[in-house]
Amino acid sequence: MKMNQFVIIGLGRFGSSLGKELIKLGYEVLGVDRDEEKVQELSHILTHAVVADATEEEVLRSIGARNFDCGVVAIGDDIQASILATILLKDLGVKKVVAKAVSDLHGRVLERIGVDRIIYPERDMGVRVAHQLVSPNLLDY
Ligand code: ATP
Repeated sequence: MKMNQFVIIGLGRFGSSLGKELIKLGYEVLGVDRDEEKVQELSHILTHAVVADATEEEVLRSIGARNFDCGVVAIGDDIQASILATILLKDLGVKKVVAKAVSDLHGRVLERIGVDRIIYPERDMGVRVAHQLVSPNLLDY
């Protein structure tokens, strides 16, 4: 399935970096964060950026989250918010939901609620760097 439009929930280091890169690659990105400053910083870079609490169903409905091909929940510290936002995106019918996990247990909960892909940023990056270190000719991806 070709992904064209992304909604990113949480514009911390991970969410904002992901959003900027997707924009560079030519995709449409809606960024959502409850912190106005984070939204301000990215408002001229992302296609749209809104200040909102992603744990509120009505909020996600009103921003049209269900129309996006892919939703990325990039909230880490607040595990409850991460889980709620993930379930809401799934229930709204977002085709592919990806979520960041900060621990094994967090990842296991996300798996149980049917997330399509779980990202463990530090762990995944460690694996990637190990491969790059031993295969310097490997194309970066
Ligand atoms: P990173 O490592 O990517 O900087 P982090 O693991 O420290 O992130 P958090 O700081 O918990 O993760 O969350 C990332 C972003 O998600 C923050 O900018 C925060 O304001 C936002 N966020 C947290 N809860 C919500 C929520 N309920 N609705 C919208 N945004 C939220």
